[in-house]
Amino acid sequence: MKIFCIARNYKAHAEELGSKVPKEPVVFMKPETALIRKKNVFFHPEFSRKIDYEVEIVLRICKLGKHIAEKYAHTYYDKIGIGIDFTARDIQSKCKVEGLPWEISKSFDGSAAVSNFIETYQFKNINKINFSLKQNGKTVQNANTSKMIFSFDHIISYISKFFTLKIGDLVFTGTPEGVGKININDKLEALIENKVLLNLKVK
Ligand code: MG
Repeated sequence: MKIFCIARNYKAHAEELGSKVPKEPVVFMKPETALIRKKNVFFHPEFSRKIDYEVEIVLRICKLGKHIAEKYAHTYYDKIGIGIDFTARDIQSKCKVEGLPWEISKSFDGSAAVSNFIETYQFKNINKINFSLKQNGKTVQNANTSKMIFSFDHIISYISKFFTLKIGDLVFTGTPEGVGKININDKLEALIENKVLLNLKVK
């Protein structure tokens, strides 16, 4: 099982990090061991002083595919969830400055929290989904999938040029603006359309 992630898919977020708005999706991956196993706890790793939350809509792949045309891409995912792409921002910034791969800042154990999934047909329009993140009860990220630079279908088609997609693979589709630092004892709640789907305590 693979976890794909898209970076800089919301303009305002790319800008808040001082990154260029990309011409093609920026893809990276997390290993299966990044998934949070103990469902409701994120253990703050000791190697970072600044772990950021990044709330993202997550797609679940339902069909084997390679070189998928954009017009058929919607048939390759059947479920949508919400996740948090935990990022050791201090380490990532250092990697970027030195021109090094940023894996250790993005793909460490426990860096991928994912909610339960909802069938895509239950949404009126998946390109207009409201989603948000609350930190200790306060909304810190709030966005709509209509603000994505690259649509779900474009992302799936693009990734499949390079990687074979398999059933159960996940795709984190990018975070909107408002990313920020987490602290021990934080309570994080990720919502789709005002419904809490993911609940995490930072320990
Ligand atoms: Mg992200």
